[in-house]
Amino acid sequence: MTLRATVAAGTDIGHVREGNEDSFTSMDPLFAVADGMGGHAGGEVASGLALETIERLFTRGEGDLAEQVHEANRIVFERSVLDRSVAGMGTTLTAALLEGDRVRLAHVGDSRAYLIRNEQMSRITNDHSWVNEQIQSGVISAEQARSHPLRNVVTRALGGRSDLVVDVQSRRMKPGDVLLLCSDGLTTMIGDEDIARILGEAQGDVARAATALVAEANQRGGEDNITVVLLRFEE
Ligand code: CA
Repeated sequence: MTLRATVAAGTDIGHVREGNEDSFTSMDPLFAVADGMGGHAGGEVASGLALETIERLFTRGEGDLAEQVHEANRIVFERSVLDRSVAGMGTTLTAALLEGDRVRLAHVGDSRAYLIRNEQMSRITNDHSWVNEQIQSGVISAEQARSHPLRNVVTRALGGRSDLVVDVQSRRMKPGDVLLLCSDGLTTMIGDEDIARILGEAQGDVARAATALVAEANQRGGEDNITVVLLRFEE
């Protein structure tokens, strides 16, 4: 069975940041969110360059998704070494590739993927972040993590180590499933329960859901750039 996806995507600078360091890809069947970091210019360059690299390799049919992510890691690192204005930059990446009735996910950093199935929402990526390590060790709660001063510290990102570990998974999707990819500008402003509620209220209308999620994050302060890519699967 081949599933078709209805897609909505959006990115917003928020109310506090001076630039938008998030980037997204919506190039059916390839979708991704990247959240750059590393100074004023660096973040935008890192997230944009990572996604451009993956899009280019995918279009040429070079390598699989994980190999494309490793190549993006190398290219972002190389640029950060050659161009002092973007030294030390990096980016998160959460990418989804549709393959028939399956989704292949590649993930590094603290952007996230959620799956909504039968009105139940579950987080299907693991944050590579300092606060998540503290949650796992029972030091702080998920609620405390969202307002923790070190909540932006990621423990894995593209643009650094050549031995980067990329989390990869492949999932069978069902008609009616919704997949949400988002940057932490959404999830630090809105808890999982409220994200699930807003998605439920949109009743499967992904464009309406995307707009409502960004608006809610802004209404709660918009402290960071907000990016969402939403896919709803149908036969
Ligand atoms: Ca961010």
